[in-house]
Amino acid sequence: MNQHTRFNLPICLTVEEDAFLHSEEIVKRYIPDIIGQKAMIISEEFLISIYKDKIEDISRDFGNAEIFTMKNASFDEAVYIAKKVCVEDIKVIIGIGGGRVLDTAKYAAHISKAVYICMPTSLSNDSLASPFSVLETYGKARKTFECKIPTAIIVDTNMIINAPVDQTLSGIGDTIAKHTALFDWKLSASRTSSRIDDFAYALSRMSYDSVYHCDEKNMKSCVFIRILSRALVMGGLAMEIAGSSRPCSGSEHLFAHAIEEYYPDVKITHGLAVALGSIPACIFQGQDAAGLLDFFKTYGIATNPQSYGITKDMFADIWEKARTVRADRITILNDVKPDRIQLDEIYNRMVEGK
Ligand SMILES: [Zn+2]
Repeated sequence: MNQHTRFNLPICLTVEEDAFLHSEEIVKRYIPDIIGQKAMIISEEFLISIYKDKIEDISRDFGNAEIFTMKNASFDEAVYIAKKVCVEDIKVIIGIGGGRVLDTAKYAAHISKAVYICMPTSLSNDSLASPFSVLETYGKARKTFECKIPTAIIVDTNMIINAPVDQTLSGIGDTIAKHTALFDWKLSASRTSSRIDDFAYALSRMSYDSVYHCDEKNMKSCVFIRILSRALVMGGLAMEIAGSSRPCSGSEHLFAHAIEEYYPDVKITHGLAVALGSIPACIFQGQDAAGLLDFFKTYGIATNPQSYGITKDMFADIWEKARTVRADRITILNDVKPDRIQLDEIYNRMVEGK
């Protein structure tokens, strides 16, 4: 991590109402060289059917770009797309979709060295501008791969406002998780020879602060969408600068990873799982969790494990598993070993929401 001194920044971050309707104009303003170059749009079947007109419009803007329907957010699919891009001399990849599409498109662009334009249809997590892609490897097994961050990020506030509310709540959860992640990052640095990258730390802190202290509580307002978009991108850039996911991922993420790996039947998005994990993580860290609980209540983010079907036994087991999912990662879980009574107390507190 300490040797990491080179990083990239996106050339363009546009958050505008109806931005998708004039994406070509936006791109022309920032990266004029790519206009006229062969482009390909990557999206998913259900999105292509919902947003048919918009996507076809974007295709026309980029010289009748082929619209590629991806099926799996897998390593194989990303490699297949990259091969197509190289063989057909495609220079620009435009990813239009949620996390699955964007991670696949980002990795395909990374392998094929194409320019990558990221156009999210929802704001569910901070992988938007992060230097990582989570892809399926064999079957449903997934792995995180390092990759290049997008060249341009274009957020259409109208698209986000119309996205399922859980998606936006997940994006909020992933942002608020930075509070406990930064604590763990500092703790880890104090135990090892690694150091905290101050600039990455500040960016991630600002990302958290901008949402936590946001005066606009209406998630469907353009103002809020703009703040959340920037916060998620800032989180991604913090990871790019640090050369690791540590500025955005601590023990609350270990909790989420343990659910993903050991309880795949639990229906919870990544961002909501880290939000749920951030409350116990905050308590383990000796910090006051009341502020987080209040914040989550304000936006209607469930902090009751029961609402996701997580029982007391599962809750205790998930925290046990969280210690081992990324064994090389030092977090508060290395220091604090809550017993079953303490875990049950935290669980009850979360059920009551105070
Ligand atoms: Zn995350």
